[in-house]
Amino acid sequence: MSLRFNSSFSDLPTTIFEVMSGLARTHKAINLGQGFPDSQGPEALRRLACDGLMTGSNQYPPMLGIPALRAAVADHYAAHQGLVLSPDHVLVTSGATEALAASFLALLSPGDEVIVLDPAYDAYRPLIARAGGIAKTITLRPPHWHLELAEIEAAITNKTRAIVLNNPMNPTGRSFSRAELMGLANICQDHDLVAICDEVWEHVRLTDQIHVSLYGLPGMAERTVKIGSAGKMFGVTGWKVGFVCAEPDIAKVIGKAHQFLTFTTPPHLQAAVAQALGWDKAWYDEEAQGYQAAYHVLRSGLQEQGFHVLNSEATYFMCLDLQQSGIDRPALEFCLEAVESYGVAAIPLQSFYEKPEEAPPIIRLCFAKQEAVLRDAIGRLAQARRAMVT
Ligand code: PMP
Ligand code: GLN
Repeated sequence: MSLRFNSSFSDLPTTIFEVMSGLARTHKAINLGQGFPDSQGPEALRRLACDGLMTGSNQYPPMLGIPALRAAVADHYAAHQGLVLSPDHVLVTSGATEALAASFLALLSPGDEVIVLDPAYDAYRPLIARAGGIAKTITLRPPHWHLELAEIEAAITNKTRAIVLNNPMNPTGRSFSRAELMGLANICQDHDLVAICDEVWEHVRLTDQIHVSLYGLPGMAERTVKIGSAGKMFGVTGWKVGFVCAEPDIAKVIGKAHQFLTFTTPPHLQAAVAQALGWDKAWYDEEAQGYQAAYHVLRSGLQEQGFHVLNSEATYFMCLDLQQSGIDRPALEFCLEAVESYGVAAIPLQSFYEKPEEAPPIIRLCFAKQEAVLRDAIGRLAQARRAMVT
């Protein structure tokens, strides 16, 4: 039998996160690759989900999300980011990944161009391609990863329909400034573009800088799709509860795509997230402080061992420049050797680039781990560096 596959999937590599987590399991390595905390998430949240599972409905919830969660998302963003949203602006999805897929499917027509900023989260390009879109890449440069507004504007053609903005940005840890975002908002309005804003890292903040959502900037509500993820807000990445916020007319059409992707998301998880979104701001601040402490442990430990660490402002991630750390190896080679011989998994930044061969020799580490684990990882990475340094 000659089975034919769709080449846009059969030619795809397996995502680097799965590959590195698999290698970490095989080699019993410390996994600083795929982004997830090594804790179970807040007990209170898990209890709410348990209660919902035992006493709530286990049948299909409404397609757009349970009313309590749609209202809670709107209220949460009003309280934390000053956004003006109603439950009709909110669609609940199975993670941010589904929110992205549904947004591309609903907003793009074949041949539409979409601006993507490299290093880009690995799901964007394949999902845009499946929706018939054509990704046009603008590459941000280390160490500051500034939004290259002039380059973005120069890449716009009469086919450009949208831009994907990941803010705060995985893998760079960059949180874009209000000035950069205002510049981008002007470009979107001047060229009639939709901004698809992946803001899953909005609460994982490492500095006092507040999160600015493009959605809240003047003139942007009508052309912005804001995507969030409870997995990141509450450190429960396996839950896959995401949300889309957009003008009701836009949200409704994205909902039409969502209805044939997953249709719904488990009701007990939705109900638990609805409650947790209303927790005090102090809870969110404390959570962020925990990540800040972990970031500083890994950052200072690696710096003491001669690693060149790039600055992160948000996310679970920190980048190391291998070349400036005295290691003359391609990032993938380093990562394979680190996991196989030194017992630490990391992610090579090349996996986030359209042209991996042009990526800088940088690796990404996830610091959302217990202090003892981070200290063990520092020792192992230091050993790797000593063996490889030129
Ligand atoms: N976007 C970005 C930038 C991410 O880093 C991730 C996962 N960490 C996702 C989307 C996917 O989120 P979810 O697990 O909610 O699908
Ligand atoms: N977003 C996570 C990361 O960047 C991984 C998500 C996944 O494995 N699909 O590490």
